[in-house]
Amino acid sequence: DPTKHADWEIAAEAESRMKTVYELGEQLGLDKEEVLPYGHYVGKLDFNKIMSRLADKPDGKYVDVTAISPTPLGEGKSTCAMGLVQGLGKRNKSVVGAIRQPSGGPTMNIKGSAAGGGLAQCIPLTEFSLGLTGDINAIMNAHNLGMVALTSRMQHEANYTDEQLAQRNLKRLDIHPKKVEFNWIMDFCAQALRDITIGQGPGKMDGFTMKSSFAIAVSSEIMAILAIANDLADMRRRIAKIVVAYDKQDRPITTADLEVDGAMTAWMVQALNPNLMQTLEGQPVLVHAGPFANIAIGQSSVIADRVGLKIADYNVTESGFGADIGFEKFWNLKCRFSGNKPNCAVVVATIRALKCHGGAPIPVPGKPMPVEYNTENVGWVEEGCKNLIHHIETVKKAGINPVVCINAFYTDTDNEIAAVRRICEAAGARVALSRHWEHGGEGALEFADAVVDACEEPNDFKFLYDLSDPLDKRIDLIAREVYGADGVSYTPEAQAKLKRLGADPDMAEMGTCMVKTHLSLSHNPALKGTPKGWTLPIRDILTYKGAGFVVPVAGAISLMPGTGSDPAYRRVDVDVETGKVKGVF
Ligand code: ADP
Repeated sequence: DPTKHADWEIAAEAESRMKTVYELGEQLGLDKEEVLPYGHYVGKLDFNKIMSRLADKPDGKYVDVTAISPTPLGEGKSTCAMGLVQGLGKRNKSVVGAIRQPSGGPTMNIKGSAAGGGLAQCIPLTEFSLGLTGDINAIMNAHNLGMVALTSRMQHEANYTDEQLAQRNLKRLDIHPKKVEFNWIMDFCAQALRDITIGQGPGKMDGFTMKSSFAIAVSSEIMAILAIANDLADMRRRIAKIVVAYDKQDRPITTADLEVDGAMTAWMVQALNPNLMQTLEGQPVLVHAGPFANIAIGQSSVIADRVGLKIADYNVTESGFGADIGFEKFWNLKCRFSGNKPNCAVVVATIRALKCHGGAPIPVPGKPMPVEYNTENVGWVEEGCKNLIHHIETVKKAGINPVVCINAFYTDTDNEIAAVRRICEAAGARVALSRHWEHGGEGALEFADAVVDACEEPNDFKFLYDLSDPLDKRIDLIAREVYGADGVSYTPEAQAKLKRLGADPDMAEMGTCMVKTHLSLSHNPALKGTPKGWTLPIRDILTYKGAGFVVPVAGAISLMPGTGSDPAYRRVDVDVETGKVKGVF
């Protein structure tokens, strides 16, 4: 009973009878060598072998789970994604889930690892939460190796004459110490490492002294590359293009210039294979790539989705945050890079979050829930549905008719649910109430049936912009059509970059990855509902040549979150007799 037990207790109980990774492979019809076990219950899938064996097999149905604008209450996207996989499983459909791996930062801080919740979860929870098969470690090693190459090169160039460099077969790169773009990474929220000075040892051989910083590992460009790479050759090519600094003439220096691109890729070979896990009810779940959706798609990888579409009739993936951020990136970035076309998109809403958008007092995490959320108020729900309708319209602009999933809480009333059904149906969307959190797959049958029906409907999937469109046109379309802005403004700095990028031949291959708060449709996180009469201010435009993204910045990006005063690690421990971990969630 999820109202009486914590998520980790429910996971632990289900783990006592979960399937082995060999059984999961058999269930998926995989050959023995296609499953690469990491212990008994987790494995990697050899995607090259699977994709070549199944090259001619038609793809299954592709379902993306997105949501209304997030509130501090949580809408339960991951929980709904797992619930849908379990519901389709209960209907005897062949189904896999495809979700991103969590970061150690939020897992040890406040948010937890977001493996779902209640009776809809991905297990084994400890492995899911604490590093899985080491993909993030591989990213840290690859990325930090690039930084080792950069900083040691700067020291050698400072210490040697051109002639001495030539004797070592090196040409001076002349890196500008104030124009270093690369940093170090670690996968925790370590605010004290945001702004550091390195190379402070007394001697010439103690490293070049300069300002530096750490970012959280999942924000690495290498994670962004892992999420969109087609294969190892594509990953190798993209890693080689990462710009780590500029020289004194303002020319870009890449990992290839440092001759470290091959070695960085070497650390990533195994990480390219998606991980195989399972739901609480034994359906397979692929876990791959990371959650950071600012300067990356923040979703499970293209490779995992391709594999999922071959090995099952339904592949359920998730694009975090609301449809303005998550679905927009799924639609115009991930599907463009992968060439896959979704058959269905789910917009998740809860009655509580709709009330929050409709005007009920905004809850403060850690403080008692305002009473407004435990008593019926159809008016707030109706008002909050304007935010839901906005996201429904966004999904329709992609050519897809969405399914709205009302993720049921025990505090919801029949009248509130009826109001949401009425409003969604009037907007032409399918709507289903789902009780997977309380009842698992059995509670998600209405939801699963709605998704099956939606997948049978032909759709007219199309991108919002063409890569041949100039950048300002792309930004304008996203701002007006997806966010509901009246227009876009640029700082002089952003304007100058816009001009420079207009002349860059690479632009025709680069996707547009917006940075904006997920807490509002606008750039102001305090504005709930559907803000009107505003302009999107672009203050900067970043370029990630390796990932192939140009990143217009309309909000604050923190590449290194901070750890709060009551982090989750206070409640994590191990049973020293059995080695079992408790308290991760
Ligand atoms: P999101 O993906 O939107 O961030 P999650 O799926 O991670 O949200 O869920 C956030 C939290 O809310 C989890 O702890 C989960 O157990 C809880 N939760 C989700 N759905 C429900 C529900 N229907 N009833 C009660 N708690 C829920």
